[in-house]
Amino acid sequence: MNQVDLHCHTTASDGRLDPATLIARAARLAVKVIAVTDHDSTDGVAPALAAGQTWGVEVIPGVEINTDVPGAEVHVLGYYVDPADETLARELARLREGRIGRARRMAEILTEMGAPVDFRRILAIAGDGAVGRPHVARALVEAGHVATFDEAFQRYIGRNSPAYVERLRFSPAEACRLIRQAGGVPALAHPVSYDHFGAIRTAFGLDETLPELCAAGLLGIEAYYPGYDAVTIEFILGVARRYGLVVTGGTDFHGLRPSELDLGAVYVPMKAVRSLRAAWEQLRQ
Ligand SMILES: [Zn+2]
Ligand SMILES: [Zn+2]
Repeated sequence: MNQVDLHCHTTASDGRLDPATLIARAARLAVKVIAVTDHDSTDGVAPALAAGQTWGVEVIPGVEINTDVPGAEVHVLGYYVDPADETLARELARLREGRIGRARRMAEILTEMGAPVDFRRILAIAGDGAVGRPHVARALVEAGHVATFDEAFQRYIGRNSPAYVERLRFSPAEACRLIRQAGGVPALAHPVSYDHFGAIRTAFGLDETLPELCAAGLLGIEAYYPGYDAVTIEFILGVARRYGLVVTGGTDFHGLRPSELDLGAVYVPMKAVRSLRAAWEQLRQ
């Protein structure tokens, strides 16, 4: 196991474990530094910091903001953001409300399609967290319309599936600026995916997008991520060098699927933590 995990979700968004349980699990797995990066919410940060004190785990406050570019979703991580920042709290609340409207619309379409799910049940599954497609998927499994989580995405709510609803639009540059004004270090999350032949595919042109994002305050990029092979990591490290970005990484732990990697199961060097902290300290000078 590895000592660093800079990408984890809790019940403050669509993770299964509450922040205290997540940190206790990290301690048990000998993870020493963990960033709590919930979707559009920093509500998990304070309880995670408290649990970090108890368990001797260093907790980095974070957030993962879901944004859109034409035809794709881009996630921007924000490390060391101040959860008390009022502008950040207001904008995240606006994004979460957009998600609720979206989940309601998906429930309506599913009902029209003959796979009825109760919108209130979706919200109940989401609990205190930012409601999202994983909660809709769980409601579909519960209602017996599909056998698995993955089938729910394939048949109903995946990007090209009939009950998919676009989210409220927020650009990655806006997310970078929002994170920076809240004192945080913005980092582009999981920038690479693969095509059917296993070749590296980026959902958007990195060289077309990164200059604008760097101008908006981007300081990091995620290079260590589940499924990323050595070639991919090298590719992203090259991008990081070209644009002078700090390299981050983690498991994107949600605790939802048995096939998912556990906390700390992706190699992330301790140097990533040092660089991230240095970038943050530079912002405060
Ligand atoms: Zn993400
Ligand atoms: Zn994530």
